[in-house]
Amino acid sequence: MNPWIAKSVILTASVVMVAVRAPHGRRSRGVKVVKNRKGKQEVILLTLAWLGFFVPLVWVVSPAFSFAEYPLRVGPLIVGVVCLVVGLWLFHRSHADLGTNWSVTLEVRERHRLITHGIYRHTRHPMYLALFVYSLGQVLVLPNWIAGPSYLITFGILFACRVGNEERMMIEEFGDDYAAYMARTKRLVPGIW
Ligand code: SAH
Repeated sequence: MNPWIAKSVILTASVVMVAVRAPHGRRSRGVKVVKNRKGKQEVILLTLAWLGFFVPLVWVVSPAFSFAEYPLRVGPLIVGVVCLVVGLWLFHRSHADLGTNWSVTLEVRERHRLITHGIYRHTRHPMYLALFVYSLGQVLVLPNWIAGPSYLITFGILFACRVGNEERMMIEEFGDDYAAYMARTKRLVPGIW
């Protein structure tokens, strides 16, 4: 199959992802941060994840990774597009429910509320789940051994290093309410883990 199909899908999905986040990011930035846990580790992890997100776009516009190309097949393409759509929908839902409590890093904002409704009723980290589903879509749609898994790997590292710290910060901030929320929800996949 023509790789231009994969290129168009990856480009469209990336633009939609940025467009979904933009208004929420703008709104959140208007609310003062009262606690910031953005240490050196977070800076490194965020930089890595951003690089991982941009590698597929480099693949779209340049032949830089052409040595790692393999043929595009229709089955993975279709399943991958479904993952991208589901991931983007989950990303939109979690941003809508989290509202101005969202931060790109570990922060607590003024009048921060613990969100346990909407999509947050089913899992504690729906936005991270969205990004995993989305990055799995990229692996399937993008027929390249480097650009395909780049975001899955870099986001996976960010998630693994961050999620425990994030939950500790939430416990410090919301105490028993977050502990009770933890007791009745799974971290990522509802009913499993
Ligand atoms: N881990 C969540 C949110 C990612 S954004 C998810 O995957 O959906 C990261 C910020 O969201 C953290 O800095 C924290 O301040 C905030 N946050 C995380 N869970 C929250 C919750 N249940 N309610 C309110 N804010 C939350």
